[in-house]
Amino acid sequence: MAKIGFIGLGNMGAPMAANLAKAGHAVIGFDLSPAALEAARAKGVAIAATAAEAVADAEIVVTMLPSGKHVMAVTPELFAAAQPGTLFIDSSTIDVASARAFHDAAVAAGHASLDAPVSGGVGGAEAATLTFMCGGAAAAFATAEPILAAMGKKIVHCGEAGAGQAAKICNNMILGISMIGVCEAFVLAEKLGLSHQALYDVASTSSGQCWSLTTYCPVPGPVPASPANRDYRPGFSAALMLKDLKLSQEAAEQAGAPTALGAAATALYAAFEADGHAGKDFSGIIEWVRTRT
Ligand code: NAD
Repeated sequence: MAKIGFIGLGNMGAPMAANLAKAGHAVIGFDLSPAALEAARAKGVAIAATAAEAVADAEIVVTMLPSGKHVMAVTPELFAAAQPGTLFIDSSTIDVASARAFHDAAVAAGHASLDAPVSGGVGGAEAATLTFMCGGAAAAFATAEPILAAMGKKIVHCGEAGAGQAAKICNNMILGISMIGVCEAFVLAEKLGLSHQALYDVASTSSGQCWSLTTYCPVPGPVPASPANRDYRPGFSAALMLKDLKLSQEAAEQAGAPTALGAAATALYAAFEADGHAGKDFSGIIEWVRTRT
């Protein structure tokens, strides 16, 4: 069992740290938010007084922070406080350039590193069924894999530094585009007098089939567990979808990749957020699509 420091005990980090503790690891967490600390403590996570204290004795450090700028701000202190040779796993969703800078800084400080963003949301974090997409050296991945297995069920080594973040933003660009496509199809069906159930029954077993339709159906009824059945409470908020789409477009611009539909999805989620819907589930964009004529 490993000694693990866990930095960032928010909606995702707290249940992930709790699952590591449940698996028998010695976990010490830290967060800047007193409310997050209390919530994590209630889930059985030991709490440090500072970030430096959480990592001082750790063999492995997991960070689960909002964005690249948070990761870049806190890691110099963590790298300095940790024992040489500590493995740093960043599971935040951040831009590929920051992920690569995180790896370079970890190596320069004498540590090992892995970018390991996740898919599966808060439900997956609680149930320990997350998918981890990992980028970094084979040795770092080999050390991390059994640790990540306490928090997830699918762990993929995608390639070198930054490859995990690359996989994450490509996946979520598909998701943003496909959700808007499914929403537009339901709104067109409404205008054509076709019932939601009829479109679902056909498309879910035809070539239009996709996750946004069959797992996360944006209209109430056909998929009872989807957020559409609870007034679009997230789930996965529109704000987080927009964040990931912006990361995809930033990366596409830097890499010179043509992403016309990715750009269109980003613009539509930006408009949805600007109209006050950032906190809604991202499938709630169907209500907004309906109002465009
Ligand atoms: P969150 O805002 O709930 O948690 C982030 C936590 O980091 C907060 O509690 C904040 O206080 C803490 N924090 C910020 N700066 C810190 C610092 N310097 N030291 C210590 N703590 C600090 O966010 P979340 O929903 O847990 O998401 C975390 C990451 O996971 C994000 O990058 C997000 O994009 C990604 N993600 C989220 C979901 C989801 O469904 N929520 C799904 C997949 C990936």
